[in-house]
Amino acid sequence: MAGNVTFTMIKPDATAAGHTGKIIDKIIESGFTIKAMKLTRLSKEEAGKFYEVHKERPFYGELVDYMTSGPIVAAILVKDNAVEDFRTLIGATDPQKAAEGTIRRMFATSIAANAVHGSDSDENALIEGAFYFSTREHA
Ligand code: ATP
Ligand code: MG
Repeated sequence: MAGNVTFTMIKPDATAAGHTGKIIDKIIESGFTIKAMKLTRLSKEEAGKFYEVHKERPFYGELVDYMTSGPIVAAILVKDNAVEDFRTLIGATDPQKAAEGTIRRMFATSIAANAVHGSDSDENALIEGAFYFSTREHA
């Protein structure tokens, strides 16, 4: 059975453009409950670790630079079928390919600066949530 937790980041392009409030509204309207949330900044080391799976990809350096270019909002979200439903809500990685009404279609500027992150599995949702929040913060 699918889990009920996912993890998101509102990425630097979206926080810089002032979209944070609108994106959080859309997440709540879509039935997600916010279990933990913080406005923070990633160090190069943290961003590199978070996206370590992409280390061999050609865009890894660009991705780390971009993710450390400004503040991000990290959050743990709860809903039935959270991972899949949230990926549907954010849309495809490339905003030009994202469906109408999705967060990336509405707020992202490019495949790199694509407004939001969403976990891709129940296992990664837990790992990523623990990367930012202590157990006490999302108990
Ligand atoms: P995320 O993991 O951030 O939710 P995703 O799962 O849709 O995004 P991934 O394949 O995991 O996509 O890529 C991670 C991130 O790396 C993307 O969100 C984007 O910011 C960046 N990225 C992916 N592909 C490219 C690319 N071709 N060029 C530049 N940046 C890219
Ligand atoms: Mg991903």
